[in-house]
Amino acid sequence: MKKVHNFSAGPAILPAEVLKEASQAVIEFNNSGMSLLEMSHRGKDFINVMEEARALVKELMGLGNDYQVLFLGGGASMQFAMVPSNLLIAGKSAAYVNTGVWASKAIKEAKLVGDVNVIASSEDKKFSYIPKGYTIPADSSYLHITSNNTIYGTQMHSFPDSPIPVVCDMSSDIFSRRVDFSKFGLIYAGAQKNMGAAGATMVIVKESLLGKTGRKMFSMLDYQVHIKGESMFNTPPVFPIYISLLTMKWLKKNGGLTWIEKVNNEKAELFFNELDRNSLFTGTCAKEDRSKMNPTFLLTKPELEESFNKMWKEAGIDGIKGHRDVGGYRASMYNALTLDSVKTLVDVMKEFEKKYADAKVTA
Ligand SMILES: *Cc1c(COP(=O)(O)O)cnc(C)c1O
Repeated sequence: MKKVHNFSAGPAILPAEVLKEASQAVIEFNNSGMSLLEMSHRGKDFINVMEEARALVKELMGLGNDYQVLFLGGGASMQFAMVPSNLLIAGKSAAYVNTGVWASKAIKEAKLVGDVNVIASSEDKKFSYIPKGYTIPADSSYLHITSNNTIYGTQMHSFPDSPIPVVCDMSSDIFSRRVDFSKFGLIYAGAQKNMGAAGATMVIVKESLLGKTGRKMFSMLDYQVHIKGESMFNTPPVFPIYISLLTMKWLKKNGGLTWIEKVNNEKAELFFNELDRNSLFTGTCAKEDRSKMNPTFLLTKPELEESFNKMWKEAGIDGIKGHRDVGGYRASMYNALTLDSVKTLVDVMKEFEKKYADAKVTA
């Protein structure tokens, strides 16, 4: 197989050893004579997978028994509806910070459930920064934030001190760094960016926050139903959960979040140093809010687009075309992307500058 440097924004790169082990499980799991895909989710083998995955999440994040971990279907987008359904208390409002496309979608869904107060937004500058210094209303049900804005390339490098429970969409930077996770009431993340395969969404919730809305809910939308069912109220997405487990084991084996944070910092530093040095490129976001997961950037001479595209494609790089809302480029550097892949991109950027910086000719 021809290996590419996969900078895709999601579904995204996974560790090679995870893919290898997962492919083996498709053929036969645990000497059971069966594929993981063929066995009952109520059988011992899969129950072990689920229990191990739920426990490992808490272990990696340093969370205690006041939190519950769920693996659900429906993508992170389903959480845009489940969060307000379960946490928005009747007669109160919910506070949201609008930092981009995903936050806007979360706001839209929450408005169908109750009163929503957008307390800060970076829409005035095309979501190119993280709003700061806003006041969090103490009488709201919860505060909703998005830790990493996958499309606009911004990331929260610190989190607000909040008088109310904080809910965070961590879909695109989950397990990428050390964070005091106990500051959060609820965290959710679709698996396909940084922890596994599409189809599973991880939800971590402080159990004491639940059961307070007085709202009647569909069973499938009710966190308490899923907690009672030990994340198997219905048939869970078995294969993406297994891949998430393997990725978490890979993280743990290598040194957990302390290790991956160091690796991710090295990659970001290498890339951003080149971005800031190179006259043919410019970032799209406020420097202090740049995402280490999804750096976004533009050519200073857009007429050179075709030449640049040709160069990175020839170097075996894939997936750096920017999101249609931002244009330009986005080099997603999730956990499984190696420093070597970033070096390859940086080398291409250097080579590109050498060749075209002084060129009067266009493409
Ligand atoms: C990708 C993404 C989503 C949407 O995830 P789905 O699993 O496709 O529903 C939500 N929030 C963020 C921050 C994302 O990056």
